[in-house]
Amino acid sequence: MDLTYTEEEEAFRAGLRTWLSRALPQLPPRPDPLDWPGRRAYDTTWQRMLYDAGYAGLHWPEEAGGRGATPTQHLIFLEETERAGAPYVGANFVGLLHAGPTIAAEGTPEQRARWLPPVLRGDEIWCQGFSEPDAGSDLAALRTRAVRDGDDYVVTGSKIWTSHAEVADWCELLVRTEPVSESVPKHRGITWLAMPMDAPGITVRPLRTLAGSTEFAEVFLDEVRVPAAHRVGAENDGWRVTMVTLSFERGTAFVGEVVACRRTLAELAAAAKANGRWDDATVRRQLGSLNAEFTALWRLTQWNVSAAGRGGGVPGVGGSVFKLRYSHARQELYDTAARVLGPDCLDLDRDWTLDRLSSLSYTIAAGTSQIQRNIVAERILGLPKGR
Ligand SMILES: Cc1cc2nc3c(=O)[nH]c(=O)nc-3n(C[C@H](O)[C@H](O)[C@H](O)COP(=O)(O)OP(=O)(O)OC[C@H]3O[C@@H](n4cnc5c(N)ncnc54)[C@H](O)[C@@H]3O)c2cc1C
Repeated sequence: MDLTYTEEEEAFRAGLRTWLSRALPQLPPRPDPLDWPGRRAYDTTWQRMLYDAGYAGLHWPEEAGGRGATPTQHLIFLEETERAGAPYVGANFVGLLHAGPTIAAEGTPEQRARWLPPVLRGDEIWCQGFSEPDAGSDLAALRTRAVRDGDDYVVTGSKIWTSHAEVADWCELLVRTEPVSESVPKHRGITWLAMPMDAPGITVRPLRTLAGSTEFAEVFLDEVRVPAAHRVGAENDGWRVTMVTLSFERGTAFVGEVVACRRTLAELAAAAKANGRWDDATVRRQLGSLNAEFTALWRLTQWNVSAAGRGGGVPGVGGSVFKLRYSHARQELYDTAARVLGPDCLDLDRDWTLDRLSSLSYTIAAGTSQIQRNIVAERILGLPKGR
């Protein structure tokens, strides 16, 4: 694989740089990171600016409203927006990075026309209603049920850890449409629905994280009516559609954050030089090893994004390798930061402190490390399945 950039790609980079230098000063000030309604407004404003300039959904296919850019242009976009200090997807995460791409891959033309343009324009925010109290790693154990009544499904149950539920307009929701039985294994009988978050019968109860944020919530569903036309894929075929969603979530959704981690690492090295910690050989070794790790992760990112581009747009299980290593490297980065900065770490601005605390969750969100290891063992290395 050739990882160098062509002249055409460098021209794309130059155009983007110019646009960023003009667009960023027009953005309103960043809201408090704990203010989710404020963050929604800020993130969607930025999304709208990207849309108006033709940079929204760069990596989405053209028939889905995207720009059909090459995987390399997508990577250049991530590099340049991060270098310029532009906002990352934020509240648009689910819509842009996995619900939207799932609808693009699996939805009908009507569904694409209804849901994709508002995601690209930043008009609508999505959340993900997959996990339940007894169905996280074992997602197929979910019990929220949907019973067909005329043109609707009537949904009852509960979801947990639903990121951005407080500010979302839509939820990619997994429901059980057929009870588990001897003839129906638990991963059959599941259906993927798009649920409007303002439907009667939905109660969102925010959960407060270690960092004080209410980024996720419990969601209770009491006879919520969801039109059958909002079903993506066939009834009882939701597990297959879910695998598409998870491929995007693990394969490409986190790639932009590697660039952010590389910038944080460079800032940390500069801080170590300034405060004398650089003289400690152990600190230098840790910083060097992280530098090698993030460089390797960026190469893996390039490979994953290119492979997804070649494979018809849906990333493969290689995303599990990335997710596993990335989430651990991110924790090591912030552990090293605490060693470099010492007590000053607590005095830094709030974003930094929040990033450090939230880095703990990355080995759990989107499937725990143990689950990623199982996937790598069984589906990449071909090792026998555990019992
Ligand atoms: C920041 C954050 C955001 C999230 N956002 C969302 C969201 O928006 N929507 C959503 O639906 N969910 C969300 N989640 C939930 C997340 O997907 C689950 O927490 C995750 O899948 C683990 O499920 P669990 O918490 O039920 O743990 P469990 O499945 O109960 O696991 C407990 C422990 O057992 C281990 N384990 C379980 N099964 C196996 C096995 N077969 N082999 C080896 N080890 C195993 C796990 O690795 C873990 O260490 C979020 C989580 C976090 C932390």
